[in-house]
Amino acid sequence: MTILPVIPTSPDAPDAVATRRRPAMPPRHFADLDSAGRKAAVTELGLPAFRAKQLSTHYYGRLVRDPEAMTDLPAAARAQIAGDLFPPLLTPQRELACDDGATRKTLWRLHDNALVESVLMGYPDRVTACVSSQAGCGMACPFCATGQAGLTRNLSVAEIVDQVVYLAGVAASGAVTGSPPRLSRVVFMGMGEPLANYPRVIEAVRRITAPAPEGLGLSQRHITVSTVGLVPAMRRLIAEELQVTLALSLHAPDDDLRDELVPVNQRWKVAEVLDAAFDYAAQTGRRISIEYALIRDVNDQPWRADLLGRLLHGKLAHVNLIPLNPTPGSKWDASPKPVEREFVRRLREAGVATTVRDTRGREIDGACGQLAASELTTVDAGSPAADAEVAR
Ligand code: SF4
Repeated sequence: MTILPVIPTSPDAPDAVATRRRPAMPPRHFADLDSAGRKAAVTELGLPAFRAKQLSTHYYGRLVRDPEAMTDLPAAARAQIAGDLFPPLLTPQRELACDDGATRKTLWRLHDNALVESVLMGYPDRVTACVSSQAGCGMACPFCATGQAGLTRNLSVAEIVDQVVYLAGVAASGAVTGSPPRLSRVVFMGMGEPLANYPRVIEAVRRITAPAPEGLGLSQRHITVSTVGLVPAMRRLIAEELQVTLALSLHAPDDDLRDELVPVNQRWKVAEVLDAAFDYAAQTGRRISIEYALIRDVNDQPWRADLLGRLLHGKLAHVNLIPLNPTPGSKWDASPKPVEREFVRRLREAGVATTVRDTRGREIDGACGQLAASELTTVDAGSPAADAEVAR
């Protein structure tokens, strides 16, 4: 593991807000605005409307996040734009790299001291960004570090988009060893339940997938939105007619266990959640991804593999098994490899495509929320994250 130098931070970012007790949304940022909003915003500043496109070209096309580096703008306009449209949203708290530089994780401190994290994962043929959609998470899955700390607040559209623009810039710099320099995929699998922050996540998806320079120009098919199964929001997503991949964090095929592992199952049961997911697949023609964290002696029994196989047989779905990355002191542990192999074998025998997720970033607390969770012990007393930790 390599601890990377932390990028210099804005002098007034963390400490000035350390005593703030109530989570508050951040100030408006350029990335919050759609095309019409950007034009209106620059016009309000007394600048010609064409500056909006210029700013989009810098931010989305060239991945320039600091207006001071947009040197084809007049100096006075740069200062004005920085103050009004580019308030610092994400302050790097820690940056870590492992897997010989192919995995890079950033822990961000937000304007109100909340902590979130993003991960960049490089492969020979692609670079994937994993981003957070909420600070913390209110879904309370007991095996998950983020779930243990509770929800601090939703992220704004710009706080989500700016993670992606930053990570695209890291990829473009060639810093991800052995990978192409262009960010190709974005997965909403960092901190938070994306569909619990529905309008902002969808708006962020639109910004990320809008053709450059209006957005980052990524293919919708290269975006994955995960959910624990908020059925009304899943049905709303069907109506959006997007082509994003839906990942359903199932983790158990039976209601008895899922009620415990994914408490929202007490509201929307396995059958109802799967129905919504299958309807999404039917509407989009996109195979859904069933995420299943394999937990020793909890959900890894052969009969559960068989039940899952029966539920998914003949459906446009594949299973992504996740070897659990246990949090320190947790009673939850990963399944032994022979148990994992038998689970895979039974699913495949049932005709269900199954893969085992690679375990990128283990050295750097790679499971969702673990870096932020480990940082909670050192954040200032009085921060929302610290409050959440103390309260549980
Ligand atoms: S597993 Fe996902 S949905 Fe559940 S608490 Fe963790 S971040 Fe939230």
